[in-house]
Amino acid sequence: MSRIVNWSRTHRCGEIRKSHEGQKVTLNGWVRGLRNHGNLLFVDLWDRTGMTQVVFDPSHSKELSGGKFHYDAVVAVSGEVKERPEGMKNPKIATGDMEVLMDKGLLFSASKTPPFRTGDKVNEDLALKYRYLDLRRRKDLRENLEIRARVLRVMRTMLDQEGFFEIETPLLYKSTPEGARDYLVPSRIQKGRFYALPQSPQTLKQILMVSGWDRYYQIARCFRDEDLRSNRQPEFSQLDMEMSFVKEEDVFRITEKILKAVWKEIKNETIGDIPHLSCQEALDRFGTDKPDLRNPLELKTLSPEIIQKSDLRVLQSGLEEGNIAKGLFVPQLKLSRSEADRLQDFVKSLGGGGVLWIQQAEKGEWKSPVAKSSAIPLKELFQAGGGKGPGVCFYSVGEISLVNKILSLLMGQFAVQMKLINAQETRSLWVKDFPLFEYNEERKKWICCHHPFTRPQEEDIPLLEQKNFSQVKARAYDLVCNGQEVAGGSIRNHQVQMQRKILSLLGLTEQEMEDQFGFFLSALSYGAPPHGGIAWGLDRLIMLLTGSDSIRDVIAFPKSAGGSCLMSEAPSLPAEEALTELGLTVSD
Ligand code: ASP
Repeated sequence: MSRIVNWSRTHRCGEIRKSHEGQKVTLNGWVRGLRNHGNLLFVDLWDRTGMTQVVFDPSHSKELSGGKFHYDAVVAVSGEVKERPEGMKNPKIATGDMEVLMDKGLLFSASKTPPFRTGDKVNEDLALKYRYLDLRRRKDLRENLEIRARVLRVMRTMLDQEGFFEIETPLLYKSTPEGARDYLVPSRIQKGRFYALPQSPQTLKQILMVSGWDRYYQIARCFRDEDLRSNRQPEFSQLDMEMSFVKEEDVFRITEKILKAVWKEIKNETIGDIPHLSCQEALDRFGTDKPDLRNPLELKTLSPEIIQKSDLRVLQSGLEEGNIAKGLFVPQLKLSRSEADRLQDFVKSLGGGGVLWIQQAEKGEWKSPVAKSSAIPLKELFQAGGGKGPGVCFYSVGEISLVNKILSLLMGQFAVQMKLINAQETRSLWVKDFPLFEYNEERKKWICCHHPFTRPQEEDIPLLEQKNFSQVKARAYDLVCNGQEVAGGSIRNHQVQMQRKILSLLGLTEQEMEDQFGFFLSALSYGAPPHGGIAWGLDRLIMLLTGSDSIRDVIAFPKSAGGSCLMSEAPSLPAEEALTELGLTVSD
């Protein structure tokens, strides 16, 4: 076989079609399949765009046996494009009617025997260690990253058309509270001092508004040192936006425009009008502030009268302060004994006391563990929990947030079991009117639900004076798609007095305010326009668009569930010298 002198590719491996028949082509790529069919030898040559079958003239067989063309070797091949003989065509691939009859070849680089091949079942840690090979062999990963790039392109185009500027903000910065711990970076030059990696560019984008930048965006990397969960990454990406002289409607309008453009481009789907729901209504009806509107099931709160009339001990605690009794009706469900037992165990595992149920069978007969003890007909109790026609009504009683958690989880499970959700559909909504503050039991203090820069609703401002924290609502909003929060933001405290007030209500002394936010409060005191913004969680958005279950499948180089990069073995121990230069010692 003669060597190719000019090895530059004329085509990509996924491009060869009938129209190329008779042409001389040069392809570059990786050797995938290698098959010896008696007097014919076949190589599947692969690059990111696809695969073309290359046929070796039998006289080249030495090249193969000599190991030059081996699995994962990187080669150039040139030859004539031919139509495959009938019966040899492969309708499963786009190039499947054609092949290249190789007359020249070149080995660019050999490959060690890879730890896994396309199609192998591989343990995730091993796949992450050899991420470069996994990205090469897994089509779904490659497609996810392509979609990610296309989403960013649509966003940038849209924002550019709307007069937004892309502005980069520093990563070596000061703490930006978003409710997590900071990642700290020690300064060598100023020993004992640390930068914080931004949890978001929140204060910086607000300062840009003070600078007159009006409409800002950034594809921002954010860092939050939180307890690890399997679908959480210590660093993640946001499309971060901020606008001046705006109200909620202006932020909604541009956000919806982006959402619609992205869905059109990626899924060719038209998103219709997006409804608005208050956080309270979402909790009442769905038990969560991130409802999946594709799920037709809803919750119903039992009135105190019906609880009293039923005279059921299990329902009584629903009358206590801070407690509630709610029903969830699942039409057409037939509950078996074993399923009823499984449900009790599940609810107990969540911290609930159990779940009460009433079943109406097809022919109208009733079944329930409280059939004998209820002082009112089961039918009345069934209807009070939302029951209508055959099916099962479940009741949970107790502390409001626990009841909501239990029933919203059951609602999701039954929707899947009863096939009530159309996976092809997208349903979005705005959730608004969140509380400004929430009480943190662990820290025994009030904290902000969103972040401390969010403005209270105008009519609730007098409540701040009365320290009536639980009643103050925020000018904050979330965009929720199919039960996932894809973006969240707020209108901000542009008046420095209001910003100071919120910080002091959160318990910061004048000195702490100055140390942590002095620069920011100073900026606000030099003519800050009214402003607001939003940030999109890009990783979750791409998960939703690609239907991925794992966040690691939409990020090129993700961390493991334990927060490590298994490929480079970060985090790692620094050299002794580096620690000395930084003035640090590590104690164990
Ligand atoms: N900085 C906020 C966040 O990261 C978003 C915003 O309020 O614009 O959630």
